[in-house]
Amino acid sequence: MRSSDDARKPVLLLVSLFLAGLLVSGLLLGMLLGKQTILKPISGGKVEPANAPLINPLKNSYIPLEGPWIVAIQPGHWKVEELPDELRRLRNSTGAEYDGLKEADINLRIAQLLVELVKAEGWTALLVPATVPPGLQADAFISIHADYGNGVHREGFKLSPPFRPSPASRRLATALETAFLQAAAEQKRPNGLSSIPQREHGSLAPDLWGSMGPPPKSPTLATVNMRGYFGFNYRRFEHSMSPYTPAVLIELGYLTNPTDRMRLTQFPAGYAKIILEGLRNYFREHHQRNEAFLTPPHYPWVEVTLPLAADSNGGKGAPVRVSPDPTGSLLWTLEPGTILLPVDEAGEWYEVFIRAKFATGWIRKVDTRPTTDPRWPLPGEVPNPSSSTAQ
Ligand SMILES: [Zn+2]
Repeated sequence: MRSSDDARKPVLLLVSLFLAGLLVSGLLLGMLLGKQTILKPISGGKVEPANAPLINPLKNSYIPLEGPWIVAIQPGHWKVEELPDELRRLRNSTGAEYDGLKEADINLRIAQLLVELVKAEGWTALLVPATVPPGLQADAFISIHADYGNGVHREGFKLSPPFRPSPASRRLATALETAFLQAAAEQKRPNGLSSIPQREHGSLAPDLWGSMGPPPKSPTLATVNMRGYFGFNYRRFEHSMSPYTPAVLIELGYLTNPTDRMRLTQFPAGYAKIILEGLRNYFREHHQRNEAFLTPPHYPWVEVTLPLAADSNGGKGAPVRVSPDPTGSLLWTLEPGTILLPVDEAGEWYEVFIRAKFATGWIRKVDTRPTTDPRWPLPGEVPNPSSSTAQ
């Protein structure tokens, strides 16, 4: 037995080498093909290395981009069925659907229109599926969605940067929101009374929206699901953007509202033009390829301490309010020891994510202290079907 085994060794070695070679070339081919299907660089022509998107799996390292602005545009829920194993629970997250109308179809149509507008600016446009290339760095990442409302009355757009936004993400969100609000304001301005000269690219408003006008701002706040969107969640998922990519998730409107539904189906170009206008303003006035501007803040985990002074709640715990203001409505009173995740700050206040409530609120920093025991992970960091899906 031993002698025959010895005799086979060189043959086995050759076969193994051959198989290993096949495996390696297969993997390389797979990576190449995979890359092409995952990411579609769309620019004026061939993508040069200088303005190619940066796929940087080393997410904690900042690598400056070069060349024309790179805009990553993600039609929400597009190709969810191709999500990798780490996101397999979202493979059936096909988006909102109402009365035969699918959010995913609307998202894709508007994203494709936006790609054309971005290309016409001389920028690089990337159409990004649900599977975000690991550590994708771009100058802006916009995830486009439409919403489902409880009842027909909910109307309008809402948008949000991720939890713990970088200064850049915050600016991008503001620029986009301003573009939506300006479009609505222009629509309302009576003809002939405006002293503002028409801009070179033409007015944003009337003919783009028929008689219904651009969408109003939804009175509803951005949800935990929007801010903790899985495409933003670089802390947990490999297939997510780089922390250094300014990002915003937009809910364009409600499929369940008759006016929004008309806008979304009849006037998709209007939405694309508003988003482009927001991008123009952002790039012109704010954007810098500057590490400090692009870096999200770091907050420690905190735990609730006993309030120093008796509060309106009788001193039983620390008040969490709807806004960073002592007179803001009281949401909850939290017991000392409750561990919280700061997701934003304003002066002497933290906005905190409260796991047990699956919601956020504002707490005074003096009512907390840093802790090193993160018993509760970030939204999306525990298996929770509703924790990181935006509808
Ligand atoms: Zn959605």
